[in-house]
Amino acid sequence: MPRPLPERAAKVVREVRAFTDEKILPLEKELLAHGFVATVPALDALRAEAKARGLWAPFLPTELGGGGLTLLEYAHVSEALGRSPVAHYVLNCQAPDVGNMELLHLYGSDAQKKEFLEPLARGETRSSFGMTEPEHAGSNPVWLSTAAKTDGEDYILAGHKWFTTGFEGSSFCIVMAVTDPDAPMHARASQIIVPRGAKGMRMVRNLPVMGEAGGGWASHAEITLEGVRVPQANRLGPEGAGFLLAQERLGPGRIHHAMRWIGICERAFDLMCRYAVSRELAPGKPLGTRDTVQAWIAESRAEIDASRLLVLDAAEQMDREGAAAARDAISVVKFYVAGTLQRVLDRALQVHGGLGMLDDTPLAWWYRHERAARIYDGPDEVHKGSLARRILRGYGMKRKE
Ligand SMILES: Cc1cc2nc3c(=O)[nH]c(=O)nc-3n(C[C@H](O)[C@H](O)[C@H](O)COP(=O)(O)OP(=O)(O)OC[C@H]3O[C@@H](n4cnc5c(N)ncnc54)[C@H](O)[C@@H]3O)c2cc1C
Repeated sequence: MPRPLPERAAKVVREVRAFTDEKILPLEKELLAHGFVATVPALDALRAEAKARGLWAPFLPTELGGGGLTLLEYAHVSEALGRSPVAHYVLNCQAPDVGNMELLHLYGSDAQKKEFLEPLARGETRSSFGMTEPEHAGSNPVWLSTAAKTDGEDYILAGHKWFTTGFEGSSFCIVMAVTDPDAPMHARASQIIVPRGAKGMRMVRNLPVMGEAGGGWASHAEITLEGVRVPQANRLGPEGAGFLLAQERLGPGRIHHAMRWIGICERAFDLMCRYAVSRELAPGKPLGTRDTVQAWIAESRAEIDASRLLVLDAAEQMDREGAAAARDAISVVKFYVAGTLQRVLDRALQVHGGLGMLDDTPLAWWYRHERAARIYDGPDEVHKGSLARRILRGYGMKRKE
């Protein structure tokens, strides 16, 4: 069982929950009716208030203006925020910025920290992460065409990326590019910071995800890079360390996402139960009197509780032993909790009937935006395969060449 939180962290979680309930959830109507971009002015006002209340970026070290929480402590915060589609944004904890801040904090040079990390940590800028390419299976991240060739003190980048979350309006993109095509597979690529105004980097479009192209942070862009010149000093970490850094970034990121999904599940569960007792099939016969609805409620409760325990256990293991040691636990969490999210959301939507299909509740928003949970940061099948192979190696199965 995960240990109880120390009082300092427990207090942060209580305050974040109260702030989300009182200030952020009331903005949901506007968000659902008019979209993210129209809601940004109101959200930015709340960002200032979150800072003033000392709730800003709880995962970041205190010297960067954050709350300095451990991963396990922050996991609880992420659940509290997850009950709103935009609460992570309000506290500057949104992906992909959170992962980029962690990368820059761990691997950035002093100059990179000053130019890119500090404004991001203060919430003055946003960033994106460009790894996946339309031409290659993202599930095999070592297969990339985007190349960065050295030219004097610079790199010249050429390539094509898509699903670059939050690219529109961001100040820089961390681009994964092949810097040495002759190196061993996992040492071919590097992560390079490309400032948004760089000549030759072009946004082709925001991808219409389930019919919604969105905007700003809530969008996923297709981009091209043609002869983009950046100084080699913009490379994060040593040359060829791109995949190593990507793994570093994804470990905690998967815990953050999984606890956010549990927040979504709790909200969907709450909406499902409220509707089950208020919607009558006939006078005096609410939906909740039906066996099927009761089974969905019971199954959802069990799956959410089991998922939370798995995530907290993985987070505690990561805090204690690091990401490599917690690899199996992280794989389990990634596919298991994404499955819980999909099932709970689907049941909640079904209980709402036609209403569930409308943006009058947040269920349809989440249904559109979170189906991808089983795909991004490694599809289910990849995590199940790698977990099973590691287990089977313990039974003597040979490692693949
Ligand atoms: C909403 C959203 C946001 C995203 N944000 C970003 C971002 O900010 N930056 C970024 O770089 N990328 C981002 N991505 C891309 C994401 O990381 C990729 O979609 C993911 O890695 C899968 O790659 P792919 O889409 O090319 O699918 P493919 O690799 O082509 O796989 C297709 C399907 O094949 C199956 N499959 C794959 N591998 C195996 C296997 N080994 N065994 C069995 N079956 C398998 C799976 O079912 C998988 O869904 C985002 C994606 C989405 C949907």
